[in-house]
Amino acid sequence: MDEFKQTQNAQLAQLFDTLDHQVRDDIVATLLQSGDQRYIDLAGMVHDTGDESVADVLTELDNKHVDRSLQELHEIEVARKRLAEGTINCCIECGGDIGFKRLLAYPVAVRCIACQTQFEKTHAHEATPRM
Ligand SMILES: [Zn+2]
Repeated sequence: MDEFKQTQNAQLAQLFDTLDHQVRDDIVATLLQSGDQRYIDLAGMVHDTGDESVADVLTELDNKHVDRSLQELHEIEVARKRLAEGTINCCIECGGDIGFKRLLAYPVAVRCIACQTQFEKTHAHEATPRM
């Protein structure tokens, strides 16, 4: 596996920050829209707490949209770890390169395109989009 250049790493790191903020903003918006005071109280915490604490608090909400956002936060967290460990470009299935272009388009990708295609074939019914 080729090491990513510093600029590529920095670009991805910035992308994760942006995504992280977007997802949190989205969670806050959902909580505020709920009109439920408990959720509105929680909204203030979303930006200030670590991912795991937020997940702990929000997991009780039983809101499909929030669940999806929490899943995204988790994926971003995993991707950040992979970036820090220098394995961001490494496919978890075959160990091959995922490719910078693919990561730019889909920063939380953990598989190369070939393995992802295979994975989706195998897990077709699990990969049904929720939207
Ligand atoms: Zn692969």
